[in-house]
Amino acid sequence: MKEFRIILLLIILLPLYSTAQDFQKYFSSGSLRIDYIHSATHNKELLSRDQLYHEPHWGGSHINLIDTFNYGHYKFEVYDSLSNQLIYSRGYSTLCGEWRYTEEAKKLWRSFSESVIMPFPKNTIKVAFYKRKKDQSWEKMTQWTINPKDYMISPLLKMPIRAFKIHNSGEPDKKLDIVLLAEGYTQSEMQKFMDDAQRFTKYLLKCSPYNEYTTDINIWAVPTVSQQSGTDIPGKGIYKNTIFDSHFYTFGTERYLNTIDNVSIRNAAANAPYDQIYLLVNSDKYGGAGIYNFYSICTADNKYSDFVFTHEFGHAFAGLADEYYTSDVGVEDFYDLKSEPWEPNITTLVHFDKKWKSMVKAGTPIPTPDTTGYENTVGAFEGGGYVAKGIYRPSQDCSMKSIRYNDFCPVCTKSIIDMIKFYAH
Ligand SMILES: [Zn+2]
Repeated sequence: MKEFRIILLLIILLPLYSTAQDFQKYFSSGSLRIDYIHSATHNKELLSRDQLYHEPHWGGSHINLIDTFNYGHYKFEVYDSLSNQLIYSRGYSTLCGEWRYTEEAKKLWRSFSESVIMPFPKNTIKVAFYKRKKDQSWEKMTQWTINPKDYMISPLLKMPIRAFKIHNSGEPDKKLDIVLLAEGYTQSEMQKFMDDAQRFTKYLLKCSPYNEYTTDINIWAVPTVSQQSGTDIPGKGIYKNTIFDSHFYTFGTERYLNTIDNVSIRNAAANAPYDQIYLLVNSDKYGGAGIYNFYSICTADNKYSDFVFTHEFGHAFAGLADEYYTSDVGVEDFYDLKSEPWEPNITTLVHFDKKWKSMVKAGTPIPTPDTTGYENTVGAFEGGGYVAKGIYRPSQDCSMKSIRYNDFCPVCTKSIIDMIKFYAH
């Protein structure tokens, strides 16, 4: 009976752990990129497949193939079609997923280009896409069968550009690889981009906890050239012809800087092995965005750019939520107060034991009073995730709450470390 229990436990645990042999069995070199169109209104969503690419690099792990975090508004799972074995999975969020919570989404359908990448499969795969429901459970959206020998899978780099290694720690499959792309830099500003890329590399590697893991991180720079300098500021009537067509005023919020040109971003990023994409925008205006396992974007020359860079990367890399609740955002009812949000640094207290409860010292009241005496205490402080009531944050202050560089709270710090260790081993 005991043996039976051990075997049962092994069967349950087995899909969570992959080996280098599994990687060799199921995957070859390079990556498979699946582009698709995500169409949505506030209550309906549809995915339509677009192009497939065999890209030359794979920056991800050969061992941690199955997602263990369960973060994101969406996830995809890859199954070997013959054995039905789960061979790869990732959670992620998207700009379309945020747009669904805007006022505009109640009135019309819109479409956004998105991509997922995975190591290039050896055999036919089934790729299943899921969206997270309000109660946090997953609902299957669609499934596509892909034969890696399909001659319509293009092996060509659509935007071949030399990638430069800004910070080199070793083999991409054993490191966290971040690719920096130039947005709104003209040909004559390429040296500025390379200098900016060096400066932002320092911002990240000097910020805790990244400063303890500098040898686990590779940073690449792809000097993509724009026709004009800067970025669109639509609310001020300013429009620039740039390679990724980025713009402020996303969802009507001035500081919210994004781009919907996903195909160009992916074409440029394909020049380097990458786990995370970061767009550096040649502007001194305050703003940025970070979407979990999608991309980060920020401006290069604002006086708070060091803070914005690490704050947005907190979203895109570690799945961290905004801990602030006093600034305007373009989305409404983004969190359901009756369920526990997936982000590791906010809680509705519905399932606090699944969050950072174990990091709270005995005797700390929950909810924790937002008063003097609790400044450096891990607790549950009311206000976070864009609302003043019903969502709680771990600490009075944090880089996910205020404009403070190098000041992540203990819960955000742990989340970042956990994620670094998932990529780097
Ligand atoms: Zn925090």
